[in-house]
Amino acid sequence: MLCIVCTETVTSTTEAWCGACGNVYHLNQRTDLPGKDCGEVWINEDHMALEFACFRCLHPAPGALDDVLDAAEASIETGLAVAEIEAAAITGRLAHRRTAGGVYLFIRRDVREFAGLQ
Ligand SMILES: [Zn+2]
Ligand SMILES: [Zn+2]
Repeated sequence: MLCIVCTETVTSTTEAWCGACGNVYHLNQRTDLPGKDCGEVWINEDHMALEFACFRCLHPAPGALDDVLDAAEASIETGLAVAEIEAAAITGRLAHRRTAGGVYLFIRRDVREFAGLQ
């Protein structure tokens, strides 16, 4: 089994199953052995049960941010002009978020789809 967080092999003394995504991650269950943690375990006080979650589910931000593009980055990604991308956003043909400062933000997947790049 490979850890969903770091993609290294998980052994029987370091495996745990994430309750959010269902994947295996490193959790050192032996205090007498060295090991690393790619997630956490804690007690849910409502159910008095152990809950497991990997770092990808606990801290989704870093990886996800790579997929947020501004119009200039979207232009580089697709080869379309910045004006064309912003026009598509304004007319509702391309999903976007407009920040308080007036910057258009896009999800990489949406931009590629709009440009016809799978
Ligand atoms: Zn790991
Ligand atoms: Zn997870």
